[in-house]
Amino acid sequence: MTILIKNCEYCGHEYVPDEYNAKTQKYCSKKCKERMAWKRQKESGNVRSKKGGYPRAIYIQLWMEARLSDNTAPCHYCKKRLKPERNSFVLDHKIPVSELSTREEVMNPENLCVCCSECNVEKSNKYSYEEFLAIKKETHGGD
Ligand SMILES: [Zn+2]
Ligand SMILES: [Zn+2]
Repeated sequence: MTILIKNCEYCGHEYVPDEYNAKTQKYCSKKCKERMAWKRQKESGNVRSKKGGYPRAIYIQLWMEARLSDNTAPCHYCKKRLKPERNSFVLDHKIPVSELSTREEVMNPENLCVCCSECNVEKSNKYSYEEFLAIKKETHGGD
């Protein structure tokens, strides 16, 4: 038997494909396959349009966490009080989606915060998380 060595189409590393799908296998690992799928999705713009498509549990978890901070579940940026209804707040990525490379990173609750849609629109891709926080802090006199 011969051992076939292929180059991963994602990371370029040499690897020995699975004997059953040696012809069709393109990546050295599941991780590389996922990363490539993610990259394609990102390039095609599907990631952005999926914004808001988070499981309800994440919305609830983040809203509850925000509420713990002072009982009003304030907008992370402008501190406006947010209602618990799903459409009254949005999830904002502290590190923008465009700089993330895996779906796990995009779905990571630690990179998400609850904010009002006004702040979300205002921040968009114009400001980094830190910049926008600083701007809002100034507007509200800080604390
Ligand atoms: Zn690879
Ligand atoms: Zn806000």
